[in-house]
Amino acid sequence: MRVIEGKSGVWYLGPGATLLLPSRFHDTAGALTADGRAELARSGIEQPKPARRYNLTVVTSTACNLGCPYCFQNTGAAAPGRFDPPRIPRQVLDGPMIDRIADFTRARLHTAGLNRLFVLLFGGEPLLNRRGCRELLVRLGELAPLTASMVSNGVLLTARAARQLEEVGLRSVQITLDGPRDLHDSTRFTRSGRGTFDKVLDNCAAAQQATDLTLSLRLNTTADGLPLLDGLIDSLADRLDPARCTLDIAPVLNYAGMFDSVMDRSGEDVRTLLSAYGTALDRGFVVGMPGGGSCGFCGERDGETGAVINADGTLYSCWETIGKPGYEVGSIDDGYHAYPAERWVSCGEFAVSETTAAQSQAFDDALTVGLLELIRDRRRSAVTVS
Ligand code: SF4
Repeated sequence: MRVIEGKSGVWYLGPGATLLLPSRFHDTAGALTADGRAELARSGIEQPKPARRYNLTVVTSTACNLGCPYCFQNTGAAAPGRFDPPRIPRQVLDGPMIDRIADFTRARLHTAGLNRLFVLLFGGEPLLNRRGCRELLVRLGELAPLTASMVSNGVLLTARAARQLEEVGLRSVQITLDGPRDLHDSTRFTRSGRGTFDKVLDNCAAAQQATDLTLSLRLNTTADGLPLLDGLIDSLADRLDPARCTLDIAPVLNYAGMFDSVMDRSGEDVRTLLSAYGTALDRGFVVGMPGGGSCGFCGERDGETGAVINADGTLYSCWETIGKPGYEVGSIDDGYHAYPAERWVSCGEFAVSETTAAQSQAFDDALTVGLLELIRDRRRSAVTVS
């Protein structure tokens, strides 16, 4: 469990929930008093919530229409003057593979004793295989009630595509922006070098008009992008319905070590990020409370609560290792194999870190507690006003 001291007490982020215990539950050395221990035990937050659904990530296309130089699925850099870095081997999900994934999923649901499914459509760019996305959701929806989400770069997210996938269970789409137009277009360009910011925003607005989908906006931020965050959030609020967007600001994960201007993760950076979250809340975006639960896909080994499946049926521990030679942990036909322990990788492990583990932890703690207190204060003032 994560324990972080805040302004008005100590926050406990357990696998089951988050709890704020006021200072009176701690002694002068900061340790929990007997009353504090009892309060913590009574809250039940130390116990993980039982899984209510089986979590599947399925890659429908390992190819991508963009050539982001930092993509963790690149196998090298693009040749000088080009915008198309080499990628992991090309695989496309087809009908026979969908049948085999359905067989795998049926058995997993039975073993886990679960009767609901969460499906994450993943790539590459999943919409390069829109038909595969739709067929997969239809087929899996025959096994159990299903909710789906998709990680997309947004370039192919037309109103029609959004509507067709919503009909078969899609409820949210995660879209990444690397900053305002110029910054975004310098890293998220097509494989022929065209910027994508305007196209992505146009598509998001059209998808919101055509469907009830929630957009999950992930703002990747470097040191250069930090002072521009407020302007970016304002421009997003002007184009989209913020009440149907969750917004998350993520210090850029430096895959391939390609960003020169990563944040130095100072106290000043934390203050700037919290101020941007404040702007997002002012403009009506939904900002989630940080929690202490584990990832539904890679948090438990060997597919107990979820599985990550490449388009060729190979199992991986996590989205970060999909298609990487040497990180296979099994196949949908014969389940999880015996594999070396270090092959089970979890989210974020591949990012190149410019800071020490202690710096990183201090930054994460300050941002987490700042965000918890910001959201709590906003909720309180909303109750007071109403
Ligand atoms: S859009 Fe995503 S999958 Fe495609 S190149 Fe960029 S980071 Fe990689």
